[in-house]
Amino acid sequence: MFVMNKPFYIGIVGGGQLGRMIAFAARRMGIQAKVLDPDPNCPAAGIAEVFVADYADGNAVREFSKQCDVVTIEFENLSVPALQQSICPVHPSPKILSICQDRIQEKLFLHTNGLPVAKFLTIPRFSSSTTEAITFQSPNEQIIKEPVDTYDQWLSVVMGTVRKWIEREFNGSEHFVLKSARLGYDGKSQKMFTSYQQFCEYLKNEWNGSHTDWVLEQFIHFKRELSILVARNHSGETQFYPLVENTHRNHILFSTEAPAKGILPHTQTEALKIATILSEKLDLIGLLCIELFELNDGSLIINELAPRPHNSGHWSIEGAHCSQFEQIVRIISRLPLGSTDLVCHQAAMVNLLGDLWVNGNPPWDKILRLAGVHLHLYEKREARPGRKMGHLTTVGVDAFERAMNAYSLLTNC
Ligand code: AMP
Repeated sequence: MFVMNKPFYIGIVGGGQLGRMIAFAARRMGIQAKVLDPDPNCPAAGIAEVFVADYADGNAVREFSKQCDVVTIEFENLSVPALQQSICPVHPSPKILSICQDRIQEKLFLHTNGLPVAKFLTIPRFSSSTTEAITFQSPNEQIIKEPVDTYDQWLSVVMGTVRKWIEREFNGSEHFVLKSARLGYDGKSQKMFTSYQQFCEYLKNEWNGSHTDWVLEQFIHFKRELSILVARNHSGETQFYPLVENTHRNHILFSTEAPAKGILPHTQTEALKIATILSEKLDLIGLLCIELFELNDGSLIINELAPRPHNSGHWSIEGAHCSQFEQIVRIISRLPLGSTDLVCHQAAMVNLLGDLWVNGNPPWDKILRLAGVHLHLYEKREARPGRKMGHLTTVGVDAFERAMNAYSLLTNC
């Protein structure tokens, strides 16, 4: 592939920060990168050639793929039919995307494969154009079908089904999370409830549940949030990055500590088992991040899957022998897997959200003076609250504490 007169091109659908960091890793290894993105000034511009097009445009994906040797993606909420127009291989496969972009498919897939998920009930959207029975699914129960004609009927069928589900599964009292089946991430399209009554009030007064299907999920009283990233190549060889601990603010990832401290042996074994089963069952070629809830006894529940480099793996840029971005480039380019071992005792990452820009540019000079602190900015032109603008990483002893100290220098001004 490294023949000088025939460059190897990877195509990345999506030119946001993940596409940008994949492109960086590729270029460092002498591999060319192109991104497909509707925005010519997307974060990956300048590092990769931008093919300006809509992600959902199958013809555009086809044309784009003619210029590439292999295609990968930076986020899973893409049009599967459009990606299927690619004339070169796409990793991860559109089949994996179709599972991971729909919480219902994902949860049913996890449950069918005997993997731990929170109790859930799927809630179908109301569609005025159909007068057929609507279908609810709960993993512990037969599919429930109820006929509805009008929105009011739909409301009452949903409330009745949810009530029965709560009585059966939780003895009547539980906390829940309502999540849209599609396009929900970083807590978007998500709502917490502390009682059935609260859920009904919301349904009657505030909800417009007609544009998508939904999942009602048991609220998990977790001890902490962890994630594990697995890399798998064409021959089925796998490498695991260490289990990391994540904290969130307003449902958005705030920090990652690698490796997570105080992991019990059975938690480690369980995480590796989950990652192995999933990567095999999905026939993964690429990366898969598994977001986990750790309970007080060290057991794990899977929250969600992301078949791509993940925000909780950014620490690996400086903290691992082979970063998650280099790893995906290696995998899709059919190069050997890189070592996922840490280069040092510890590594950490803190996200830099648009809120930090409220008084203009944050005081970077304060953190750039610190040894072992690395600043990554994504060249986004507009800082908005909650928007991921960059991140900082630290490596070495007490990496997490040093990352938090560096972050506080950016906020205390
Ligand atoms: P998600 O968009 O599903 O990744 O959810 C964003 C965040 O909301 C998670 O990282 C958790 O902090 C929280 N969350 C999501 N689902 C649950 C749940 N079932 N129980 C408790 N917290 C949850």
